[in-house]
Amino acid sequence: MVRYNLPEGMRYSTIEERRKFYAEEFDPEKISSWFGRRIEVVKFAVIIGRHTRVFPEKYREDLETTIIIDEYKDLEDVRHQIVEFLPESAYYDRNVYTEKDRPIEQELAFDLDPENVICPIHGGLAEKMQQGQGLSFCKVEFNIVRDQAAALFEYLEENFHSLNIVYSGRGFHVHVFDHEAYKLSKKERLQIARLTKKKGFAIDEWVTAGEMRLIRLPFSLHGLVSRVVIPLTKSELARFDPISDERCIPRFLRL
Ligand SMILES: [Zn+2]
Repeated sequence: MVRYNLPEGMRYSTIEERRKFYAEEFDPEKISSWFGRRIEVVKFAVIIGRHTRVFPEKYREDLETTIIIDEYKDLEDVRHQIVEFLPESAYYDRNVYTEKDRPIEQELAFDLDPENVICPIHGGLAEKMQQGQGLSFCKVEFNIVRDQAAALFEYLEENFHSLNIVYSGRGFHVHVFDHEAYKLSKKERLQIARLTKKKGFAIDEWVTAGEMRLIRLPFSLHGLVSRVVIPLTKSELARFDPISDERCIPRFLRL
């Protein structure tokens, strides 16, 4: 077993870097144009320092808490709240709620992460966990998930029309914005998750089945790897390299 951590140039962001990113670079307007539904009713969430143990001192008590942001005036206000917490990760809630806060629908999504692929060098997730490297990944694993994301997109195209690929900072997400997909039952989601896994895709079953309703917020900073979460088209995906692609490299790393 070879010891490893992250591909070249990827590392935890500092508190000061998170501040710089969310105060100067993060553009919430981009989120609203990307979203396929009414943004004003979306719940956001942040986690300050669960994995990195990097956190503003005043939030020491809440460093592992999932903090929900569901009271805000507009997206600029959301940005202000994120600047207040300076989190390692920002998410949104895929559930759609009634006015009485009852979940009625959910966006269907697929999460492909490099730690879920079996690497010819580093082995499978069990071996990585054994080495205390459960969140690490290498370039080989990244390339495998990138190819899988393209294949998954094509597979999903057989049944859905409104598909969006997002580079998540580690792997990829495929979001399904089709209206019918929002209406799937829990049982149907679980079936889709199991079938997709059976086809050989290294997806996180919990995300697709809906148990894990939070998903990383596009255009936010992934603070474990210092990369910006960005949407990609299918044709951009084939050549996408997060080590060198300027679109996903925050300004604090570009100088
Ligand atoms: Zn590997």
